Amino acid sequence: MEKQMEMPGQQTMYKAFYNRDSSFEGIFYVAVKTTGIFCRPTCTARKPKKENLEFFASTRDALLNGYRPCKICSPIEGGHKQPDWLHSLMDLIRKKPDLKLKDAELRRLGFEPNRVRRWFKKQHRMTFHSYLRNLRISQAFGRIRHGDKVIEAAYDSGYESLSGFTESFKKITGFSPIRSQDKKLILISRIPTPLGPMLAGAIDQGICLFEFVDRRMLELQLKRLRQAFKAELTPGSHPHFDVLNSQIKEYFKAERETFDLPLVLTGTPFQKKVWKILQTIPYGTTRSYQEQAKLIGQPTAVRAVARANGDNKIAIIIPCHRVIGANGKLTGYGGGLWRKRYLLQLEFKKKGLPFHF
Ligand SMILES: [Zn+2]
Repeated sequence: MEKQMEMPGQQTMYKAFYNRDSSFEGIFYVAVKTTGIFCRPTCTARKPKKENLEFFASTRDALLNGYRPCKICSPIEGGHKQPDWLHSLMDLIRKKPDLKLKDAELRRLGFEPNRVRRWFKKQHRMTFHSYLRNLRISQAFGRIRHGDKVIEAAYDSGYESLSGFTESFKKITGFSPIRSQDKKLILISRIPTPLGPMLAGAIDQGICLFEFVDRRMLELQLKRLRQAFKAELTPGSHPHFDVLNSQIKEYFKAERETFDLPLVLTGTPFQKKVWKILQTIPYGTTRSYQEQAKLIGQPTAVRAVARANGDNKIAIIIPCHRVIGANGKLTGYGGGLWRKRYLLQLEFKKKGLPFHF
């Protein structure tokens, strides 16, 4: 797992935040649960109630947990050291968070793509594009953790500050503020895990999505789900999420080896075949893509099997992390190799097997 940075004690951080102590700049960030926004310790905005605060060691952690950067203290810009060109870029992103900023586009707007990339990597331990992606997803789903009420409030009140949020939410989810009774819905919820928050999707028949929030594929997967079910996405609760949440907790505590909850697979017949075979790989063991291809009776379709593996929408539960290269190397994982290693290590340790990846 990625290293978590050390943070000062809670009391110290409360004090620093309420005193706007600039010596804590860059040491921690404060998120406000009721607004879904995160700040630098010195933010001049009105200080919220203590019980609504959450602390993070990095801007990345705050973003991954669904918070948006504050417009007053601009935590992403990184305080006093911010270069001038960054102001205009961040302004642009704030106004249009769904802007697709490819290298050519950046250049046209007068930004040097390499400089942009390097700055985000250095300051936020993430690429510029994963920052944009996170921002979009955060804007769309960040408020889920605070319950549906905030979402409804956002729709109903039409506050100026929330209009951007609503707009971007609609773009990603296709969910319109005007809800109709007969519209089919896919419910979306955020499930915390030791590897970072995951987005889960459910319909009455079962879980249809479980994926890391920062995964590149997520937006595409959400679009595919909407098309497959001809349904809209909306944050909400569902009994399936309660089961998923408790089983995933047990899994990460190494108290559960198999999952017992209904899954709904959406994909081509070939993909479904691959995902079914994936579910037969026992906990704490691995198979190669070649072996998987043989098992579905198409021994030459190794590449297609690998692709279908990557298209899995229900991570961990359909254990695509248990497939490795023929040479015994871990090879790729949609959620990142460090997560694959973490999951396999957890399972091997539970089984008392030597971990050699
Ligand atoms: Zn602020």
